[in-house]
Amino acid sequence: MQTENGNLRLAVQKSGRLTENSLNLLKNCNLDIEKFNDRLVVNIKNYKLDLLFLRDDDIPEYVQDGVAELGIVGEDVIKETKSDVKIIKKLGFGKCSLRIAIPENAELKNLSDLNGKRIATSFPNILKDFLSNNKIEAKVVNISGSVEAAPSLGIADYICDLVSTGNTLKLNKLKASINVLESEAVLIKNKDLKLNLDKYKIYLNLLARIESVLNAKNSKYLMMNVPHDSLEEVLKLIPSLKSPTVLPLADKNILAVHAVIPSEKFWEIVDYLKSAGASGILLLSIENIVL
Ligand code: ATP
Ligand code: ZN
Repeated sequence: MQTENGNLRLAVQKSGRLTENSLNLLKNCNLDIEKFNDRLVVNIKNYKLDLLFLRDDDIPEYVQDGVAELGIVGEDVIKETKSDVKIIKKLGFGKCSLRIAIPENAELKNLSDLNGKRIATSFPNILKDFLSNNKIEAKVVNISGSVEAAPSLGIADYICDLVSTGNTLKLNKLKASINVLESEAVLIKNKDLKLNLDKYKIYLNLLARIESVLNAKNSKYLMMNVPHDSLEEVLKLIPSLKSPTVLPLADKNILAVHAVIPSEKFWEIVDYLKSAGASGILLLSIENIVL
């Protein structure tokens, strides 16, 4: 299918919800990805990596069979296809949950209320496992698309589908109920990965780059000026990943304080920093963090 050029192969979704985030992650790893249009295989110009653009449902199997050594895909698809691959890392995007949804005016008090119901889904394997683990006898109606229309068409009583905002459910007069599975995009690899030394080095380097991008995404670089007398109080407020850097300035009464902090903490502490005397507060994005 592709030429044997010694490059590592990574399968990504060709066009869908995971495509943009997958490619952005790789671009942030400093990989030069050109427009792929309709090509199946695309070489990365500045790295010994080929991207395979596939339907997401095919990715776990391609990785399991070793056609690609690595892949980026939703955990839901791995479970549904029952593929034997190794999850290396959660990637923090494509978060969604597989939920049983029921008509707005219906009620589900207990799991056992599912007994005897017809549930439409495009995840028959996950749903069947869930039902049998919970000793529920319900009919699984396998539908490949527009599952949410099934109850109004009279094909099923309930549905089991991926939900993130719940807007699609609302449009179809449905509401989310029981949670069957939480999912997000993950990096996977072939279980019996046997790489020659060159490929193995690229593999380790790619993992390190991905790790550093993921670390950086959740962190920000905080800089501010702090009067000498307030230093102790300010340092206590900073939820720093490592010990903050404190630097003298030309004005002997003021110090510069720098720290890497979790992004979501900034707005929690900024007012406290100001009242403790910090000024000239800057918050900067970080491209990479190598721990
Ligand atoms: P393909 O044509 O490649 O088979 P698809 O239509 O099956 O695409 P998408 O809808 O693009 O797949 O979803 C891909 C993945 O994105 C899902 O497997 C899931 O992990 C995640 N996902 C699905 N729905 C949502 C959602 N509503 N919000 C966030 N992530 C989602
Ligand atoms: Zn799919």
